[in-house]
Amino acid sequence: MKTRLIDGKKMADEMLDDVREQVSGLPRAPRLAVVLVGDNPASLVYVKNKVKASQRAGIRTDVYRLSPVLTQDALEAFINDLNADGDIDGILLQLPLPAHLNADAAIERIAPDKDVDGLTTHNLGRLMVGAPNLAPCTPLACLHLIKKACPKLAGKNAVIVGRSRLVGRPLGQLLLAHDCTVVQAHSHTKNLAQVCARADILVAAAGHARLIGRRHVKRGAVVIDVGINRVGDRLVGDVNRAAVTGVARAVTPVPGGVGPMTIAMLMYNTLRACRRGEAKSA
Ligand code: NAD
Repeated sequence: MKTRLIDGKKMADEMLDDVREQVSGLPRAPRLAVVLVGDNPASLVYVKNKVKASQRAGIRTDVYRLSPVLTQDALEAFINDLNADGDIDGILLQLPLPAHLNADAAIERIAPDKDVDGLTTHNLGRLMVGAPNLAPCTPLACLHLIKKACPKLAGKNAVIVGRSRLVGRPLGQLLLAHDCTVVQAHSHTKNLAQVCARADILVAAAGHARLIGRRHVKRGAVVIDVGINRVGDRLVGDVNRAAVTGVARAVTPVPGGVGPMTIAMLMYNTLRACRRGEAKSA
């Protein structure tokens, strides 16, 4: 079987251009506040990529760099101020935070209508009851890539390897909402290869380099690789792409798959938050 590579970079650029076009019809550019605590090198790269994408999408992004020794109270007070600022449409707290800070508590401070990362319990709860507000960006990115390769999702068997709050769990809810039969595998799952081999859609989000090989993939499956793992000086996914080539129908590369699409979804969520805010204040 010929295995198609799903080009996440190209699809992300298309989405950013689409957001830009929609932004041009708004009375003002949407505004995103990115809060970066400390100087984690990977976070600096992610933030730089977000700023670059926002420029393409016509979204104004302000990066607030806060001290690595900031207290929890000071961080939450800072977020409160952003919540109260009527010119700011979206707030993104760049993770991970320095170890002395409580990320969950800080995320909870973000007003749900500005929570463009979709990680507050309010927004995750909305997803859970099938009434999404702002959904998390990486699961939205996965869904977008999956739909491209597999437009009819109803009745498909989806297996997600990973059950994190950031990726696995919310993606399970999104795929359920699209009428897939969802299996959520995790570190205690027995016979992972057997479980995965039933999937029409297989999503690897374990953070374990090349965990998914040929044995895990059903012939003709769509395989989405969320993992980002550093091996030596290279970034590799959770999928051994060489091994699944010829078995899978389509697969996302790492880098160049879910990563850029996630950032494009952040811009899409910021546009949505801005539209909602405008509608409320009208
Ligand atoms: P996490 O560590 O919070 O969760 C990992 C999940 O995988 C857990 O539920 C765990 O039970 C499961 N797991 C771990 N090892 C397993 C194994 N051997 N077999 C089966 N299940 C296993 O991680 P996360 O935040 O969900 O991120 C997962 C991966 O995705 C990481 O590599 C991360 O860097 C990457 N990621 C990428 C993007 C992107 O934009 N491309 C965004 C977020 C996360």
